[in-house]
Amino acid sequence: MRSFATLVTVLVVVASGPTLTSAQQSGALRIGSAAARAGEKGSGFIVVPAGIDSGTRIPLTIVRGKDPGPTLALIAGTHGDEVAPVIALQRVRRELDPARLAGTVLLVQVANLPSFLRRTVYYSPIDGKNLNRVYPGKRDGTVSERIAYAITHEIIERADYLVDIHAGDGNESLRPYTYWSPLGLNPRADSIAREMALAWGSDYIVIDSARPHDPQASVYTQNTAHLRGKPALTTEAGYLGLPAEDMIARNEQGAFRLLRYLKMIPGDVELVRHPLWFDRTEVLRSPGTGIWYPQVERGHTVQKGTVIGVVTDFFGDTTAAITAPFAGVMLYVVATPAISEGEPLGMVGRPVEER
Ligand SMILES: [Zn+2]
Repeated sequence: MRSFATLVTVLVVVASGPTLTSAQQSGALRIGSAAARAGEKGSGFIVVPAGIDSGTRIPLTIVRGKDPGPTLALIAGTHGDEVAPVIALQRVRRELDPARLAGTVLLVQVANLPSFLRRTVYYSPIDGKNLNRVYPGKRDGTVSERIAYAITHEIIERADYLVDIHAGDGNESLRPYTYWSPLGLNPRADSIAREMALAWGSDYIVIDSARPHDPQASVYTQNTAHLRGKPALTTEAGYLGLPAEDMIARNEQGAFRLLRYLKMIPGDVELVRHPLWFDRTEVLRSPGTGIWYPQVERGHTVQKGTVIGVVTDFFGDTTAAITAPFAGVMLYVVATPAISEGEPLGMVGRPVEER
């Protein structure tokens, strides 16, 4: 049972936490080679030194508001071929005016440069690991673990709120949606994150309450922030490794809508009015290696048993037909042919009634 004393302590910490004093606000905030004083923007790199494999660097922008306020971290490029969010954060950097900003925005412009530059799907070309499965990272681990360690300590620990901005990867045709991950551990973080999801703007919201509870094995970027008490989201908008203009615009608008919700910039708060919530999702995986022929598209409604697509061997003979396990919506469909056993083919989500 939670005692009243504990509750009071938490509230006091929260109330005094996000806002810097004017003395702190007047000095330069430095992260890696990026630095900004109040009212300035500064860009630079967090260096991830070589270790048991090669190193990399993380391009970062600090936008420091003229007025004090909370710190929002926006992270793009966790998966290397998810490009619409990367382009969107360049626009946020250009358009966000520190003179009209209260607080600080940390823009991680490309979290996973090795994967971005080599255009790899899911996995780092250096260590073969998925950056969004190795948090909170390891100081002496492989490069993906060292990137996660740097982001945990340099970005997440400084942030009051966080959005890990994803898209369909280079092989994924995706219909925009947002993950809201209430874990029941921190009611404040759960409820603020819910409103952040409505502010971001996607009308499809997946409720994912199955993420780990151990801060030392938080696995996901978003969950690492959440388990440290910071309201956080994972968003998805964009597809197939393309800088599609409408998807770039959605991601950029999401950032500005969220800044208004957090009262970091002036303007009316807009929350999605009629979201569709999804309480069950399943990633469909390939039973074999070969060539994938999808038969549905992103956003399609499917019934239980609807054929999502077929896998053939390398000669064209069908080896498996993949069917929907329950009725729902295809949130993404893998839309390029190469497929390996155990890899995703798509994700189906089951909507619940409006809450
Ligand atoms: Zn991703």
